[in-house]
Amino acid sequence: MNIKINKNFLNVSENYLFSDINKRIKEYKEKNPNADIIRLGIGDVTLPLGKSVIEALIKASNEMGNKDTFRGYPPEYGYDFVKEAVKKYYLKNNINLDLDSIFISDGAKSDLGNIVDILGDNKIYIPNPVYPVYLDSNIMSGRIINFINGTQENNFLPMPNKDISNDSVIYLCSPNNPTGATYNYKELKKWVDFALKTNSLIIYDSAYEAFINDKDKPHSIYEIEGAKECAIEICSFSKQAGFTGLRCGFTIIPLELESEGVKLNKLWKRRQATKFNGVSYPVQRAAEAALSDKGIKECMDNINYYMENARMLSEFFDEKGIFYTGGKSSPYIWFKCPNGMNSWDFFDYLLQNANVVGTPGAGFGTFGEGYFRITSFNTHEKTKEAINRLRKLL
Ligand code: PLP
Repeated sequence: MNIKINKNFLNVSENYLFSDINKRIKEYKEKNPNADIIRLGIGDVTLPLGKSVIEALIKASNEMGNKDTFRGYPPEYGYDFVKEAVKKYYLKNNINLDLDSIFISDGAKSDLGNIVDILGDNKIYIPNPVYPVYLDSNIMSGRIINFINGTQENNFLPMPNKDISNDSVIYLCSPNNPTGATYNYKELKKWVDFALKTNSLIIYDSAYEAFINDKDKPHSIYEIEGAKECAIEICSFSKQAGFTGLRCGFTIIPLELESEGVKLNKLWKRRQATKFNGVSYPVQRAAEAALSDKGIKECMDNINYYMENARMLSEFFDEKGIFYTGGKSSPYIWFKCPNGMNSWDFFDYLLQNANVVGTPGAGFGTFGEGYFRITSFNTHEKTKEAINRLRKLL
């Protein structure tokens, strides 16, 4: 063959993070077959879907098997019944969304990866460390990336600074994966004001908003005045409602967002209608159910279960006086490796001496080196046992 390939893909570094982790666990297990390994590395939910979601899935599946209620292709932007449910969910925080600004998708990852399609060659600013999709999708489209760095000094919450150019695209993730760090109203307002002043766009990933349990922290960027003129928000049912295997998310592109005389909402509509055929009907009914009053309560029961693990872990790090972020308003705890160890050395040390698995911070960006992520997606019993083992080690 002699066709041209997209060489930008060659610039994306291979992400071996989770395969490397699994390889090291496998090797360790081969040498120590009786080791009782506790996994606090996973960023995936572990509790099953709520009853309301399951009932909705079954009901909708039955409708698909009946000639009077069968449905074919769904609308590319989502059924109005889910959009209405999202609208109602946002109204709880006094945010009034236009139905046309809500786009239902098969998850936040797709939308975060695809949003680059409607954006030109802008200056891009990405937090470091962060969920790797923002970086890789921009590299794939040949963009030159700049970083806004998370450090111990700024509690892993990068803030606007004079080095950020006008007319930029800025990614923010709050609560952040992997650091769990979450902007409060004052901090997020600084970002919104900065974006408005510099004619920039914020792409705001709120995938973990349901974990926020602090009234000083916004669940959505649209809680901040002016955000509809400068921000796209991308959210997910994955962590909120346990949909990691079911797949559903949504993106909000306010009608106010306009650049070069064109509405971004119109471009995204065009993009989705061309490249996306919508989310399956049963899954959209399940998403609607997750946002009903009963559904939200069931989701919150699961989130509160995880957050009890996060509380136990935070209490342990407080007791030890080890620097960490997250643990509050987030399922992740991000802490500094002891004795200046690098992330991977600490991974091995923890695996070999405590049989506990976490995720090396270096896998989320250069500023993650020397840090480590553990998650609350496990049982109370295993989390307690992991803490007992960590206590002997740290
Ligand atoms: N955004 C962040 C910050 C995440 O951590 C994840 C998944 O781990 C996603 C988005 C992807 O969400 P989804 O499952 O909806 O694709």
